[in-house]
Amino acid sequence: MEIPGSLYRDEGLNFIHEPDSGRLYKKGKLLGKGAFGRCYKFTDVSSRQVFAVKMIAHTRKIHMLHRGGVEKEIELHSQLKHKNIVRFYHHFQDQKYMYMVLEYCRHKSLAHILRVRKLMTEPEVRYYMKQIVHGVLFLHQQGIIHRDLKLSNFFISKNMIVKIGDFGLATTVDQCENIPGVICGTPNYLAPEVLAKDGHSFKSDNWAIGCIMYTLLTGYSPFRARSQKEMYYFIREGFFPVPNYISPNAKHLIMSLLSNHPSDRPCLEDVLRHDFFTQGFTPEKLSSTTCHTAPSFLL
Ligand code: ADP
Repeated sequence: MEIPGSLYRDEGLNFIHEPDSGRLYKKGKLLGKGAFGRCYKFTDVSSRQVFAVKMIAHTRKIHMLHRGGVEKEIELHSQLKHKNIVRFYHHFQDQKYMYMVLEYCRHKSLAHILRVRKLMTEPEVRYYMKQIVHGVLFLHQQGIIHRDLKLSNFFISKNMIVKIGDFGLATTVDQCENIPGVICGTPNYLAPEVLAKDGHSFKSDNWAIGCIMYTLLTGYSPFRARSQKEMYYFIREGFFPVPNYISPNAKHLIMSLLSNHPSDRPCLEDVLRHDFFTQGFTPEKLSSTTCHTAPSFLL
């Protein structure tokens, strides 16, 4: 079949043609809009395999340069293969767009789930946190700092497995340069040393993991404030409330991950050995009904 250009319309459906391989994809629903592009569900017409495809217009790429550029994201993400990392299959481009072909995660992200659930039970938090820590540990072992760990970057597959995604701000530790005056990351989860412009290390990711654990257990981030100035003050001083429904083990782990000095935060191997994980029940699997309803764990 002759395809006029890379994109054509057939009876109202969009098809995308991958120039080099000759693969043809049916472009399905919009999965979400990102800061620099859109993500769509794609189906390979011949294999029926489903993907999430990030489409970035070449005209938008210039706006990504402060993040290191789309090429850096592709270079880092494409070499990562781990159960808890969104699989990057390949990329291609046509005249208008760069396409990143990614593992499709049916249940969107942990941010979407938490928005519905408001907060989670400790067994669920152990279930999600273990996978998050395993994924980030793998990144760190590869010499990669993610620098943008947050609930909306933890995608959830059909089988409720956590997949860490969005490597737009990630860097290898040897390339991690500090640009004066530039703060890299998402304001809520900025570690004190990043605020102080001392640079983002592996331990700054561990700080974000502490913020994430807190948010899953309470439904809000630890450093809420009326203004950005006040929030930065709370981060620098380490002021955050710990509600009394949080168990002592969870509280201890959160407090250690949110230590002001990076060297006082536990390494990820120690996090996995912490009493919070070893002394409480962790489900082996979670039902997808937990995306909207709290589980009872009374089997
Ligand atoms: P950004 O890089 O700005 O965070 P993305 O382009 O990565 O934005 O993602 C935009 C939205 O697309 C996400 O919020 C999510 O809803 C959806 N999305 C991204 N990747 C996937 C995926 N692998 N599977 C399912 N949905 C995804």
